[in-house]
Amino acid sequence: MKSKKDPRREIKELLAKGDLEKLLDKAAEIHGHYCSHVALGVRATYAAFRGLGIAESTGMEEILAIVECNNCFVDGIQAISGCTLGNNALIYKDLGKTAVTFINRKEKKAVRVIAKYDPDDMDKDPEGKEAMELFDRAVKKREKLAFKERERMMELWTKLSFAILKKPENAVLDVKKVKPLVMEYAPIFESIRCSVCGEDAVETRIGMKEKNPVCLECAGDTYWIVAGRGIHPVAKRIINEK
Ligand SMILES: [Zn+2]
Ligand SMILES: [Zn+2]
Repeated sequence: MKSKKDPRREIKELLAKGDLEKLLDKAAEIHGHYCSHVALGVRATYAAFRGLGIAESTGMEEILAIVECNNCFVDGIQAISGCTLGNNALIYKDLGKTAVTFINRKEKKAVRVIAKYDPDDMDKDPEGKEAMELFDRAVKKREKLAFKERERMMELWTKLSFAILKKPENAVLDVKKVKPLVMEYAPIFESIRCSVCGEDAVETRIGMKEKNPVCLECAGDTYWIVAGRGIHPVAKRIINEK
């Protein structure tokens, strides 16, 4: 049985060795498929860690990743850096750019990495063109592809993602040192029970109604969600509404 002392031991060893292919396999485990942007996320993390002089992240907020998009790129970053939404080491800036800034808090250093990706380059290569056409049909037009076409699409994207790992770093990434932003450590809040639904919510998401605590949803107040289109407000109860 593997040691339970460090659940990220394998990823740390792969990072130290610079084994990008195995790192991509690891990222694909949580991402669900191989694609260009998950591969770019893996490479961006590897490049930033090297730039920051760190070989590992413990997932305890010493290293922060500030991502600027919510596409496949982010899963490459979460899987390899260990900076995730759940451990508060991943911060989401809703700018819609395929970019990430890693901050090493202890050393007060930061590196910003921008993924260079030009869909026109894909068109120049026959397999790239075929991959894009299948992607457009399946994802943009939400067409139901035949089993064989779907398999072909996955095969092409897998090939493309591994090809990205072999390109020179400056062909796929723009890496620069930047001034680190000072970010607060994630505060710990108390939980308060909503007097309407009986569920607990953190104190900052509880309001008072006739002197009783009420969660945002029961109060019918506006709250924010992170969804495909980015961060946006949801007014009133739309999620559980019949
Ligand atoms: Zn993807
Ligand atoms: Zn409630």
